[in-house]
Amino acid sequence: MSIAENIKSLKKETELIHVSLIAVSKTKPVEDVLEAYHTGQRLFGENMVQELVEKYEQLPKDIQWHLIGHLQSNKVKYIAPFVSMIQSVDSLKLLQEINKHAEKNNRIIDCLLQVYIADEDTKFGLGFDEVIELLRSEEFAKLGHIKIRGLMGIATNTDNEKQVKDEYYELKTFFDGIKQSFFRKDDAFDTLSMGMSADYKIAVEQGSNMVRLGSTIFGKRIIKHWKNN
Ligand SMILES: *Cc1c(COP(=O)(O)O)cnc(C)c1O
Repeated sequence: MSIAENIKSLKKETELIHVSLIAVSKTKPVEDVLEAYHTGQRLFGENMVQELVEKYEQLPKDIQWHLIGHLQSNKVKYIAPFVSMIQSVDSLKLLQEINKHAEKNNRIIDCLLQVYIADEDTKFGLGFDEVIELLRSEEFAKLGHIKIRGLMGIATNTDNEKQVKDEYYELKTFFDGIKQSFFRKDDAFDTLSMGMSADYKIAVEQGSNMVRLGSTIFGKRIIKHWKNN
């Protein structure tokens, strides 16, 4: 199936159940993004700052770009003028840096806190206790140019569906608790981003309302990086 056909069928599937679809275009050329764009898709995700900036510059300006990969503090300035959401916030220090550059750009930037749920060393994210500590901190209370919209998590990359299900169940339960404790009167805390191509159906069953799909839409990624650097 073509990119356009893939995205049309996934959009139908996700819209019916009120799940947002982020088309993850990392490593894929702008032509592929445009093919998806012309079906009406506007939410796209990238995991590298340089690639995100280059695609932003070349593509229609009504695309809403989500950063979904690890973000170094010194690179926030490149995306702060235009990024729609940063899903990969994994420290207070990074949040403070995002806040600083959002203020410079006269913006409020939507963020998700990335929570560590996988049984792997390689995944970035905050532990449950660290999320609570961050939200309770005085430093956090001072940040007027970021908006926490919810949480994001990546399950273990495994064929063990029970494990994936348990990890997403845990994050959904945690999300509900955080909503109750810190954002009860805040309607904007509404996003639980869980699910990639291999596991999005499980994630949605467990309560995800935002999925991040790459290979299901654009096909397998052959090269690791878009550019040779
Ligand atoms: C690459 C990536 C995805 C999409 O992966 P697929 O398996 O191709 O759907 C989703 N989330 C994050 C954080 C990613 O880095």
